[in-house]
Amino acid sequence: MENITIANGNKYIMSTYARLPLVFEKGEGVYLYDDQGKKYLDFVAGIAVNCLGYAYPSFIQAITEQLQKMNHVSNLYWNKPSVELAEMLVKYSGLDQVFFCNSGAEAVESALKLSRIYSEKNKSKDCYEIIAMNKSFHGRTMGALSLTGQQKYHENLVPLLPTVKRVDFNALEQLKSQITDKTSAIILEPIQGEGGINPVDIPYLETVRKICDEQDIVLIFDEVQTGIGRTGTLFAYQQLGLVPDIVTFAKGLGNGIPIGGIIAKEKFSKEFTPGTHASTFGGNPIATTAGKVVLSELMEKGLLDSIQEKGEHLRKALEEIQNTFDIVVDVRGKGLLQGIEVTLPVGEIVNKAIEKGLLLVPSGTHVIRFIPPLIITKEEIDEGIAILKDVLQEIK
Ligand code: PLP
Repeated sequence: MENITIANGNKYIMSTYARLPLVFEKGEGVYLYDDQGKKYLDFVAGIAVNCLGYAYPSFIQAITEQLQKMNHVSNLYWNKPSVELAEMLVKYSGLDQVFFCNSGAEAVESALKLSRIYSEKNKSKDCYEIIAMNKSFHGRTMGALSLTGQQKYHENLVPLLPTVKRVDFNALEQLKSQITDKTSAIILEPIQGEGGINPVDIPYLETVRKICDEQDIVLIFDEVQTGIGRTGTLFAYQQLGLVPDIVTFAKGLGNGIPIGGIIAKEKFSKEFTPGTHASTFGGNPIATTAGKVVLSELMEKGLLDSIQEKGEHLRKALEEIQNTFDIVVDVRGKGLLQGIEVTLPVGEIVNKAIEKGLLLVPSGTHVIRFIPPLIITKEEIDEGIAILKDVLQEIK
């Protein structure tokens, strides 16, 4: 029988997604329920968004209370939740000032603009080049897309920003060969989330940090996917022993209420002055109330402390799977952002898992990503792993 939501969706919504034939109606904890009442264990979390899963009581309460007070107010004025969230982000990141927008791509655009303004004002008018990494993902707006190092997303859109150079990830000599007096910024993800769960090499990153310091190049970490506790610290760089000049955030901070932004060192942030950048919804009181709940659960109520342990639990289980199934050739990632590389395209695995009530998402063609809600328990991780084993058993 035809599903009317899917039929109307295909008719009325532009088909930018190859959607699976699933209509979700409600969620609770780490489980989603479709319109037939079938229950799914969610290892996707809205693609690293729903840190607190679904129907989280303190989240619902805070947002409901804020809605009753005030839904939106312009950035012509101040609102308390945005200032309080900015203060928390500064405190827990070790950086100095925040700019709020609404999504990951906009956060990347903000970082791009801030670094360009900084370089033009403090270095030279010709200092406008940005170096980005192959296999990276930074979003779909034209600036962020220009940084994104995956040709498939560029089709029919070339030329993109002509001031972007792309180099292989973790390839120091290649990077050095592209740095000139025109280099304004270098941008990278500490773990490439969409490009196959590829972690940065720490010695490489240390050298990049040193080069940026020596040549006054802005070092941007795109932590839209790795940030907000996902890898076991608020930002992934907090495990790497160095600090970026600008970090982006989005996805997890709002637990599903759209929010994004950047945090920067004051040396850079002070270059955003009235009129240089803006966003109508940026710092909206509902979104920033959502962010406050997520950060408070993570940083003040112990959620962050549990993530490394749960991440190790997941990692061990995935390594055991690698030892058992020949088609699994690698396990990569950190905390609750892990991936397995398999020798065959991942579509069949994802589809069979769905049949058995487990939601999984690929990262590229041969990697399956595990990005469950951060509130997941070890028992719920085991439940998902058991389903995955069943699936791999059938495919083997
Ligand atoms: N940057 C990174 C590292 C991402 O993973 C993503 C989305 O997956 C983005 C930017 C773009 O975020 P959004 O889809 O919210 O624009």
